[in-house]
Amino acid sequence: MNDHRRLGRELDLFDTHPMIGSGLPFWLPAGAAMRGAIEDYVRELERRNGYHHVNSPVLGKQELYERSGHWAHYSDDMFPAMEVGGERFVLRPSLCPHHALMFASRPHSYRELPLRLAELGGMYRGELSGVLGGLSRVRAIQLNDGHVFCPPDRAADEVGAVLDLIEAAHDRLGVVPVRYRLSLRGEGAKYVDDPAMWEGAESVLREALHARGRAFDEERGEGSFYGPKIDIQVADPQGREATLSTVQVDLFQPGRFELAYIGPDQREHRPVMVHRSLVGSLERLVAHLVELYGGAFPAWFAPVQAVVLPLTDAEAPAAELLLRRCVAAGLRASMAAPHQGTLGARIRANRLVPFQLVVGPAEAANGEAALRSRDEGRQEARPIAQVLAWMAARASPSF
Ligand SMILES: [Zn+2]
Repeated sequence: MNDHRRLGRELDLFDTHPMIGSGLPFWLPAGAAMRGAIEDYVRELERRNGYHHVNSPVLGKQELYERSGHWAHYSDDMFPAMEVGGERFVLRPSLCPHHALMFASRPHSYRELPLRLAELGGMYRGELSGVLGGLSRVRAIQLNDGHVFCPPDRAADEVGAVLDLIEAAHDRLGVVPVRYRLSLRGEGAKYVDDPAMWEGAESVLREALHARGRAFDEERGEGSFYGPKIDIQVADPQGREATLSTVQVDLFQPGRFELAYIGPDQREHRPVMVHRSLVGSLERLVAHLVELYGGAFPAWFAPVQAVVLPLTDAEAPAAELLLRRCVAAGLRASMAAPHQGTLGARIRANRLVPFQLVVGPAEAANGEAALRSRDEGRQEARPIAQVLAWMAARASPSF
């Protein structure tokens, strides 16, 4: 059974330290390499689909979260405020208020909409230590977040476009969701009390789901405090579900932040805020991918894509040169030197690496490499430039 916590340690992806604290994992070089490849892919997918990337601080004044509604509806899940210079600051529980204020900080015409802002940003949850574990339940979260500001009559189209992007990202990553869930409000003070607002937002989400013919379950008590959402659920090997991707329609925060754009009638209108995450948090996504692939990752996000294996020390100079050419070609590559064991032992130790390059006396003499592909088998020795081109074609995500 693939447990991401065990595999994460065995593959040197991430770890925790009691002096840093539970729920605060750090990413080791292999994990950071994998995560970086996924971040680059998602950023490029967003860029190609009309998103502008922004950056904002991981904390803000308490009054920001009083305005957004988090303080009234969500403070149980937040870190307590800290006082500096007579002001109270809070580690942010979500990126939405920062993005709402970014929108509010400049005037907007209907011609600029939809405005799509995206950020891979930190957010924090004051989870109790008993429930924390590995990457799936953490206190510091790096979220692939984004907010689309659009006129109300464009919201269903924007939600549909987000669903398409989520599907594209899942397809590239190899993620297969178990179901789509329409998450609705439950009872009590956790949810903003405005039935007409909820009905309006729900109808937008239903319209987008029906337009794409998606089957979905409806569940009460799973919505955000400010609005309903479509959650795309994945399951771990034990069948436990988690939400990976989400898209939400919010008619509440635009009012709280008095967001407005100038319409064709020259009057002010209130935009809708569509909250969305294509792949969720990097923590939860990588936990899922580790369990899904058991460490044999697709080449484009494998921590090490190519390993060079000289047969003996005599081939070390040729192997060094090959390694440098791999790195220069943009590959994440490493060396498995003869002192690490027999060739057979080194091949086994690197069995999860997508591309193994064996350098024997003939390859060293001829400027060639013999490629063993994890997924496509062994090849004859070929000139290094050909082997590099073959690997490079498989080592980046296509769009
Ligand atoms: Zn949001």
